[in-house]
Amino acid sequence: MNASTSCPLCAAARARGPDHLASLDECEIVLGENQGCPGWCVAILRDHVEHMDELTIDRQARVWGDVARVARAIRRVLATNGEGGGPARLNYECLGNVVPHIHWHIVPRHAGEPDLRAPVWLRSPDALRGSLAPEARQHLASRLSEAIRRA
Ligand SMILES: [Zn+2]
Repeated sequence: MNASTSCPLCAAARARGPDHLASLDECEIVLGENQGCPGWCVAILRDHVEHMDELTIDRQARVWGDVARVARAIRRVLATNGEGGGPARLNYECLGNVVPHIHWHIVPRHAGEPDLRAPVWLRSPDALRGSLAPEARQHLASRLSEAIRRA
């Protein structure tokens, strides 16, 4: 079995379930499983590559263009709590510590979060997952999908 058949993010990049938001230049965009910060999106590189530096500079730029487009959409959809519209802050993270397949977390941090200055990964699994109801999750996914198309 090669990496692309056993890798959960390769499977996620191929899936077209209700959490799939958009297909951009290099990445498939999904609403994250974790919604402890509502609007949390993940940009998954379409093919299995472990490290950003393995991509050409042009591809790295296109990946970043995809991430920036999602960020713009999140700030438009969640224009509530931060100064000037949008969430209080966006966190951009490309870790690969758990699944070694290039993916970017774009995490809106909302005003009023008790730990706004800390990385989200310090939270418990339940706090990361959040409590967004299925209907609210679907509504958020459709708004984000529409906004990404326009971003
Ligand atoms: Zn993969």
